[in-house]
Amino acid sequence: MTENSNHRQITGKIVIATHNAGKLREMRELLAPYGVEAVSAAELNLSEPDETGTTFAENAAIKAHAAAQASGLPAFADDSGLVVDALGGSPGIHSARWAGPDKNFARAMQGIDQMLRDHGALTPARRTAHFVSALCVAWPDGHTEDFEAIIEGTLVWPPRGEAGFGYDPMFLPDGHDRTFGEMTSDEKHGLPPRGQGLSHRARAFMKLAEACLKQ
Ligand code: IMP
Repeated sequence: MTENSNHRQITGKIVIATHNAGKLREMRELLAPYGVEAVSAAELNLSEPDETGTTFAENAAIKAHAAAQASGLPAFADDSGLVVDALGGSPGIHSARWAGPDKNFARAMQGIDQMLRDHGALTPARRTAHFVSALCVAWPDGHTEDFEAIIEGTLVWPPRGEAGFGYDPMFLPDGHDRTFGEMTSDEKHGLPPRGQGLSHRARAFMKLAEACLKQ
């Protein structure tokens, strides 16, 4: 029995349950090679549900279910964030919120570095962290397919690089000497055929593609 036969396949049209233009572009690019047509929640005027879950997977499912119910189409949502070991897992599902309404990630990164110093976390071994990406595809009949992946690394200071977004400039993935902020998008995601999947989002997407998209 193949992996695919245990999972529902994504075909035709799918709603991308995000109002974030950057995420929409990235998800459209990921889905395009599989012949899946992606429409955005914003294009369909769908409202954004409150993210009331306590885990990345719950929040991804809340967003995917809401968009599937409202549109009558399968819907794809993600939730992601940075988990810092020495801070008990913070900022975690609140990663976006820590940057405030003005989305000031320079300040958010500075805050994390200060908290690590306050905890005496000065060496790379004490400054470990990982990014998490949870993906959920929900169908109007309630069926879901869920995938999650992480990328482990350490938090450097000062931040390095101008590429990417969010906490990228302080995140040094294990086994690499450049932060996500110093990598091109292609390098950060490391997608096949050139790479084997590097970013949390690329790794989660590869699991989804293996299970639910025609190769
Ligand atoms: P979401 O829109 O609720 O998934 O928010 C995720 C937040 O986590 C983003 O706003 C970033 O702060 C952070 N984050 C998630 N993935 C990444 C990444 O690949 N690089 C940098 N920050 C990320």
